[in-house]
Amino acid sequence: MTHFCPECFGDKSLRSLLIKARPSYPDGVKCDFHPSRKGIPDAVVIDRIDGAIRSNYGWADSNPYVNEGATLPELIEGLVQPESEDILQAVKAELENSEDYDMRKGGEPFYDDNQTFVKYETTYNPLHEMWDRFKYDIVHQQRFFSQRGQGWLREIFSDLEHQKDSSGQSPIYTVSPSEKGWTMYRARRRDTEAERAKACAAPAAELGPPPERLRRAGRLNAPGVACFYGAFDIETCLAEIRPPVGSWAVTAAFDLLRPITVLDMTRFTNEVANRSIFSPVRQKRLDQWRFMQVFQEEITRPILPDDEVLDYVPTQAVSEFIHVALAAEAKGTGSRIDGIVYGSAQRPGGRNIALFGEAALIDGGTDEPEDKLSRAALSGLWDDGAGYVRPSLQNMLGPDPALKLREGSVAVHRITGIDVRWMTEDPDNELQSLDF
Ligand SMILES: [Zn+2]
Repeated sequence: MTHFCPECFGDKSLRSLLIKARPSYPDGVKCDFHPSRKGIPDAVVIDRIDGAIRSNYGWADSNPYVNEGATLPELIEGLVQPESEDILQAVKAELENSEDYDMRKGGEPFYDDNQTFVKYETTYNPLHEMWDRFKYDIVHQQRFFSQRGQGWLREIFSDLEHQKDSSGQSPIYTVSPSEKGWTMYRARRRDTEAERAKACAAPAAELGPPPERLRRAGRLNAPGVACFYGAFDIETCLAEIRPPVGSWAVTAAFDLLRPITVLDMTRFTNEVANRSIFSPVRQKRLDQWRFMQVFQEEITRPILPDDEVLDYVPTQAVSEFIHVALAAEAKGTGSRIDGIVYGSAQRPGGRNIALFGEAALIDGGTDEPEDKLSRAALSGLWDDGAGYVRPSLQNMLGPDPALKLREGSVAVHRITGIDVRWMTEDPDNELQSLDF
């Protein structure tokens, strides 16, 4: 019997699997390749490796002309990163031995030297099913947040802060006011001269979120809930309001007053961080990453005149869940998620942002407490010097706006033309896909 130890392998996830398993095996038995280390019986190690390979890899093809995939030694080398050639050969021999029983029953060996191996592409993703059930449930069954609905959202969206793309970037991050590229633009249709004059005279109020009773529902906010929808450039923000040629719009730029934490959906267009097939969270992270790629399309879809108000309810629930529940549960981050960054459906390559709650408020906008002076005085009075303001008092002071209008940024635009991009579909093909 051969014995291995965690040090035999370079793959970190496999090593930690073996480190966890090792204490349950008898002391005094040493690794065949590291005589000073406690060994683990080959059956245990090979069982882990065999399981991971079979659930992730299959034969490249039975077609002899197709020459792709990895040979068995290449596959083992890449997955477990054996410390030496001897270890590689031992793993290979043990994998081959482990399937003797199947062969006696007439089966073919899976670990065949003449085969090459490729990774399975599984298309099944349980999160899509859960999302569809959530949508149906919240629209047709329970308008108010049910326990069941919250459970599904938690399943789908929790642990987002642990995601990383292939270059190590997290989709959740905090931006400080000094960071470049975080100027946000907002546009409003203002077709008459009187309307434009009014907008230019009071841009923070006119271009910010409207007062509470006038807030309309959007894809990411229920009626009455403050939400600042902006874009990171003027072209995108004009495209997003879908103005007809000949109409007029007023735009303004807004800068951050304080740090905000965002969930950046555009990061999901990158590749997910590569994780070992021995990592216990590999499939979970991969499923969530792929789900988020599709989910992004759902929130970028334009609001159309024929849309039912109910169509927005699921995404509204998600943004509320992400803003209120998710960050509170996320250990370590401590801060709420103030907004979502997402790609523009109106202008490919453009990026939008939706800011929620108090992060949506503009200094000098409609929600500014009337008496600015007393507010400042109060916070000075009760601040104990460490920047701590009693929570109850903080509530009294009202929300802390995250945005301010950039002076001199208000501009009036007349729309002189629209760029259109399209795809031509064969009408027959479209019918076929409807059948499907
Ligand atoms: Zn060893």
